[in-house]
Amino acid sequence: MVSEADCLFCRIVAGEIPAKIVHETDRTVAFRDVDPQAPTHVLVIPRDHHPTVAALAAAGGGLAEEVLAAAHEVARLEGVAETGYRLVFNTGPEAGQTVFHVHGHVIGGRGLNWPPG
Ligand code: 5GP
Ligand code: ZN
Repeated sequence: MVSEADCLFCRIVAGEIPAKIVHETDRTVAFRDVDPQAPTHVLVIPRDHHPTVAALAAAGGGLAEEVLAAAHEVARLEGVAETGYRLVFNTGPEAGQTVFHVHGHVIGGRGLNWPPG
């Protein structure tokens, strides 16, 4: 297991900080964003600590694919798989990444503007 004691999302994985979990696999956890920007706003993360989507892609072993599959399963469970949803990995400061444990935002349940601001 790869974890960091001072990482907020590692602490959610460890159960040290409460979260509204909507889906879990052996290697992923999905939970509701504390500040939702749409009717569906769920964060999908690997249990292991990887800072960015680049690190997740480099991890190998099918982990990135499992995170993507979990995100789509969340969309299905939330009822937005057919109506449409956005899967966003903010990466780096200019993209607004604030938590450096890679997470995909599953956002849906309303019309979404493109391009985002
Ligand atoms: P980022 O800006 O890094 O892409 O997204 C971080 C997300 O984590 C934000 O949407 C923020 O609302 C969410 N977040 C921050 N702290 C917590 C927390 O303690 N619990 C949950 N469930 N979400 C959080
Ligand atoms: Zn972490």
